Amino acid sequence: MALTLDQARAADAADPLRACRDRFSLPEGMIYLDGNSLGALPAGSAAKVANLVEAQWGRSLIKGWNEHKWIDAPARVGARIAPLIGAKPNEVIAADSTSVNLFKLLVAAARLSDRKTILSESGNFHTDLHIAAGVANLTGLALDIAPRAQVEKRIGADTNLLLLTHVHYKTAERFDMAEVTAKAKAAGATTIWDLSHSAGAVPLDLNGDGAELAVGCGYKYLNGGPGAPAFLYVAEHLQERLGSPLQGWMGHAAPFAFTDDYAPAPGIARFLAGTPPVMGLEALEAGLDAFDGVTMERLWSKSIELFDIFHANMEAHCPELPCITPRWHEKRGSHISFRHPHAFELCQALIAQNVIGDFRAPDVLRFGITPLYLGAEDIVRAVDILARILRDETWRDPKFAVRGKVT
Ligand SMILES: *Cc1c(COP(=O)(O)O)cnc(C)c1O
Repeated sequence: MALTLDQARAADAADPLRACRDRFSLPEGMIYLDGNSLGALPAGSAAKVANLVEAQWGRSLIKGWNEHKWIDAPARVGARIAPLIGAKPNEVIAADSTSVNLFKLLVAAARLSDRKTILSESGNFHTDLHIAAGVANLTGLALDIAPRAQVEKRIGADTNLLLLTHVHYKTAERFDMAEVTAKAKAAGATTIWDLSHSAGAVPLDLNGDGAELAVGCGYKYLNGGPGAPAFLYVAEHLQERLGSPLQGWMGHAAPFAFTDDYAPAPGIARFLAGTPPVMGLEALEAGLDAFDGVTMERLWSKSIELFDIFHANMEAHCPELPCITPRWHEKRGSHISFRHPHAFELCQALIAQNVIGDFRAPDVLRFGITPLYLGAEDIVRAVDILARILRDETWRDPKFAVRGKVT
């Protein structure tokens, strides 16, 4: 049922997660529905990063690597991501970008078998397909890209690796991780999950679901800031069998022995390559602080409530925009998407009214549902503003059709 503004305010007043909003610094008057693309600024980030720069870098200089444990930041931050994704602390490490982590895991895992195919989904996030195509070129494997409805059926005797994004970036459709992983494993294939739209968004149980390999993003639901380091997960039982193709010194067993020969570090640390981006890791840690004391189950139940309000109010007030995100909550992530031939212009007109969503080509209007800092009132007001833009056709102003470099 659609909610009125008063009903939404009452719902927010009774929300046990309401206080979490204060953990973020959001511009006054802005309704931020793009936390699935770039998470909001945590209230603690600026002071934490400033302290790192001024007190740690400024005062300790090179001693900081030991005194402030900069060298341990990739493992420390990885261990903090672990509980959010149902992994053990020693199975996750923060490093590089999602694309680079994907490259490392694809090449490493491909070498475990002599099967010839990497299987993925058409319409998967493009960097994943591009990286997979590059890995196929490099390793002599074939890349098979199947439509979503056929991808599971296509797992066969030739499938070496199955590369899937757990929650689809556009539609928010979610794969059943346990079921798909088991199916691939039974057929002799290894699955690599991209958790970019899942980590910090939906409850995950990588260990319980039998997941072996995964990558994910630090700047979306984890609120690590623009270009934050990403993470990678390798199940404990696989760690000693995999070698990174980027054999950098930070993944060496003894980086400060300065030997000519490469020997991988024990465990997940072998997936580091170069010097860790300490400032970025500090900001990512501040993003993770915002999850303190909040379980993913609690966050997810609020996400469901906000989704349902979004869906009902759109049906009531903007029926011309069909929702392309599955209604059933087990089947989706934490954003909601709608189709409209002028989605780009609508998105720009919304931004002009301080409602920030995003556009995904060619015709999708997408809104992130981030329960740490959003409430029912935000959703109801955003839909009201969109309804007004549609009714008054303000989106037709030519200025809303101008496209920037980033959309
Ligand atoms: C956001 C996103 C990425 C980001 O990759 P980067 O290399 O970190 O820029 C990768 N995959 C998916 C599915 C994403 O949604």
